Amino acid sequence: MESINWSDLSFSYMKTDYNVRCYYRDGKWGELEVSSSEYVPIHMAATCLHYGQEAFEGLKAFRGVDGKVRIFRLDENAKRMQSSANCVLMAPVPEELFKQAVLKVVKLNERFIPPYGTGASLYIRPLLVGTGARVGVNPADEYMFLIFVTPVGPYFKAGFKPTNVAIMRGFDRAAPLGTGHVKVGGNYAASLRSGALAHENNYSAVLYLDAKEKKYLDECGPANFFLIKGNKYVTPASGSILPSITNKSIMQIAESLGLEVERRRIAVEELANFDEAGECGTAAVISPVGRIDDFDNPGVSYVFSHDGQPGKVCEKLYKTLRGIQYGEIEDKFGWNTILD
Ligand SMILES: *Cc1c(COP(=O)(O)O)cnc(C)c1O
Repeated sequence: MESINWSDLSFSYMKTDYNVRCYYRDGKWGELEVSSSEYVPIHMAATCLHYGQEAFEGLKAFRGVDGKVRIFRLDENAKRMQSSANCVLMAPVPEELFKQAVLKVVKLNERFIPPYGTGASLYIRPLLVGTGARVGVNPADEYMFLIFVTPVGPYFKAGFKPTNVAIMRGFDRAAPLGTGHVKVGGNYAASLRSGALAHENNYSAVLYLDAKEKKYLDECGPANFFLIKGNKYVTPASGSILPSITNKSIMQIAESLGLEVERRRIAVEELANFDEAGECGTAAVISPVGRIDDFDNPGVSYVFSHDGQPGKVCEKLYKTLRGIQYGEIEDKFGWNTILD
């Protein structure tokens, strides 16, 4: 095998040895299959291709300080994929099948799990797509569940350093009663144009406002958003936010560290009242936000980092979360599945 420079990995695709697949036909799930092909043969009228009938997940496996491999919150990802499947009328993947498939694909690609100390991890990408042929808008009768893995480094090149984000009032990623709360591809297609505009202007992400009133904070690109004020961790409540498992975990960590946790609607103007801001998700982990610009109102900005450094609370949360994932801190919440 060509040698991998583990410390230099970015968040991008790298071919690994195997992926696993399972097919839903005639009303039931078949056997889990192992494949070494990176391609999927698919009917040209498959519902995933035309009507976006698909959902995905994202989780990580970490090589710990003790050499053991830990998969973070496997059961939560299994449940969320079921809720996504139900939302777009796909056959949900049974929780047991999901877990078995993740363990299998990680084990088969064990040599791609980055060593401890490199800051890298193995990203696991489960995918569920409608494969049955339809021309009219209807759910498919056949589905494919697939998982591939790829070693990844930090989502943002700079690592644990503040980046800037932009409020863009000319775009929404999801409607209040749409699919924002589930992990389906359509939400991402809807976010590409605003995301590209943000990147062109050197922002790491778009901080979306609620689509109905344009008054409250919503999702931050492909991540959840949070704010810190003194001893308080505050994160937006909204029906169009994807319930991040990272955010859920950070809220529990915050409480265990004695912080007060609030999940509520947050008006844009309130940004001025907070000390720290951050994005969180499996890919982004915790990524501090340095400044938020109101893109359509030049001159209106909210600054959270004056010296290019992350805030103290962000840093404490980040270190605790990473510590649990890499086996440095006791997993008292029972979040890790250890590979045997
Ligand atoms: C996946 C995702 C997140 C992060 O969720 P995690 O479970 O923490 O990885 C946040 N927002 C959106 C829109 C997502 O798709």
